[in-house]
Amino acid sequence: MENIIKKIYSTYAESTGIGKVADYIAPLAKVSPSKYAISICTIEGQKINIGDYNEPFSIQSISKVFTLSMLAPLVGEEIWESVGKEPSGSAFNSLVQLEYEKGIPRNPFINAGALVITDKLAEKFPNLDASLLQYVRELAGEQNIHFNTDVANDEYATGERNKALAHMMKSFGNFKGKVSKVFRHYCNHCSIEMTTQQLAQAFTFLANRGINPLNGKTVISPRDAKRINSIMLTCGFYDESGDFAYRVGLPGKNGVGGGIVAIIPGKLAIAVWSPELNTHGNSCRGISTLADFTTELGISVF
Ligand code: GLN
Repeated sequence: MENIIKKIYSTYAESTGIGKVADYIAPLAKVSPSKYAISICTIEGQKINIGDYNEPFSIQSISKVFTLSMLAPLVGEEIWESVGKEPSGSAFNSLVQLEYEKGIPRNPFINAGALVITDKLAEKFPNLDASLLQYVRELAGEQNIHFNTDVANDEYATGERNKALAHMMKSFGNFKGKVSKVFRHYCNHCSIEMTTQQLAQAFTFLANRGINPLNGKTVISPRDAKRINSIMLTCGFYDESGDFAYRVGLPGKNGVGGGIVAIIPGKLAIAVWSPELNTHGNSCRGISTLADFTTELGISVF
């Protein structure tokens, strides 16, 4: 596996200039487009790292997997009345579908869906931001994971579309908390900075039937691990989810910071970071890296 990773890394090491670094959150625009890292963590604890794997970056929408898995054990089937589990076929911040579907977002990984999940978490955790950080730190087995307040403040100040999504859901009665308060949590969660190494480790519970291999603790039930992986496969890349499934064949989740994490159930988690994005907001080099990885390794979920 190490040789495959080295080969893929050298294939794409010079491949920049294909996409565009996210700039609608101002501090993200300052990140060098040439950053490139790949990290693998198996459920047995084997680690492979290459490139800028020690450099923390903004995990953005990858945080939506953490918030969903944090909420999952605390709610029953009624959660699926507030948020769906179907691919949206729309951009991550689309407003159109939400209006004609009466304020029920298609899935928990588009922004509207993640806002609903955050709203529900805020009802359950009086100190949600601290609780989420603690949750992520325990999954990664490291304490040095933090919010980036510049990133969070910028998104909070400029995220009119996300606020519109929350207000629209509130108008349909599908949002309980104060929009400004819940949106602040959402921005903080998206601003978490992690390295690919930490991300790969933090996602191993999803490859391990919901158990954190670092300490043997149950994070979520095997049923919920199955479900969250399924939603990642069908919805993790918004209107590019079909293409990602076709090329990579694994459940995964992206973030506009250029990160992607994918899971091989029963085996490992792999995290890639490369900030240049395609028009769907997904990392160009990240997708190519993962497509080559599953092809060369000959293993995917299919
Ligand atoms: N914080 C970003 C937003 O809400 C996350 C988007 C993403 O990573 N796809 O727009």
